[in-house]
Amino acid sequence: MKSEKWEQVHARYPVKISAYVLEHIRKDPGGAWARQALPSVDELIDEPGMVPDPFAEKGVAACCYGVKQRFPNRVLVMTSDQCALNCRHCTRKGLLHQAEVVLTAKQLAAAVAYVKAHPLVREVLLSGGDPLMLSDTKVLAFVKAFASLPQIDAVRIGTRMPAVNPARITQTLAKKLGAFKKVWVNTQFNHVSELTPEALCACALLVEAGIPVSNQSVLLKGINDSVDELVALCSALQRARVRPYYVFQCDPIAGIAHFRVPLAKARRIARELPKRLGGLALPRFVCDRPGSPCKQEL
Ligand code: SF4
Repeated sequence: MKSEKWEQVHARYPVKISAYVLEHIRKDPGGAWARQALPSVDELIDEPGMVPDPFAEKGVAACCYGVKQRFPNRVLVMTSDQCALNCRHCTRKGLLHQAEVVLTAKQLAAAVAYVKAHPLVREVLLSGGDPLMLSDTKVLAFVKAFASLPQIDAVRIGTRMPAVNPARITQTLAKKLGAFKKVWVNTQFNHVSELTPEALCACALLVEAGIPVSNQSVLLKGINDSVDELVALCSALQRARVRPYYVFQCDPIAGIAHFRVPLAKARRIARELPKRLGGLALPRFVCDRPGSPCKQEL
C-alpha cells in the first residue's frame, strides 16, 4: 500500500497488532491473520448503506456512565477502549476510542448501583474493547463487583485474548475467575489456523478452571466463507471444548464492506453446516439488523 494511503487508513482506523499475531503474519504473510490485522486500502471505500454506527450504539444507554442496556435482563459494561489487535473487520471500528469507559471506583460503584436498581438484570457483559487489556486486579474487581450481587447469574467476559495474545490467559487468572462460579467467556476465533498450541493452552486453562467458553466468529470473505473452512474451525473448537456459538454476518459498518459475504452465500453455508457437524459443534448464523431489538437468524 502506498504510504499516503496507509496514513489515511491509519488515521481513520488505527492499526495495532499484538506481537503474537505479528509473529504469525511473518510465518504466513497471506494467511488469515494477515487479512484480519493488516490495513487495506479497501477500508477507505465508502459504500452506500455502510455507516460508522448503524446500531446507534452511541445513542444507546445514557442509563449510567459506561453501561448500556438494550434488554431488560442484561447489561453491557464498557471496561476498556483498547484491544491487543485492532481487527480490521471490527463492528466497533471507528467508535472504540469514543466509548464511555468505566474507569474509576466511583464509576464502577455507580454501575453496580444501576444493576441493583434493576432487579430484572441477571447477566452482565464486560466488554469494550477487550476487558483483558486491564490488569488482573482490575478485571477481578469488575467481576467481583457484579458477581457478588445475588441477582446476577452470569458475568460474561467478551475477549479475543485467547486468539490474539494467548499468554494473557494465565493459570492464576483463570483460577481466580473460575472461583466466582459465575464467569463465562466469549471469545473470537475466525479460522482454524488461529487454534495454535498457545491458543489451545489458553482455552484449556479457562475450561479447566470451570469457565464455560463459547466462540463467536465473524463470517469473513476470503477467510472463512466456505463450508470446509467453517467445518474445520468448529470441529477444532469442539475438540478444544470451546462451544461454537455464533457466526455473525458482517455488520453494515463503514470500512468493512470488503469483508462482507453476500447474504445468499452465507445462507447456503448455514444450510450445509448441519450436514457436516453435530449439534454441539453447530453455530447459529445470526446478524444484527439496525432497528431490530435482538439478533436475527440468517
Ligand atoms: S478484539 Fe473485538 S472489539 Fe477488539 S478490535 Fe477485535 S473485534 Fe473489535
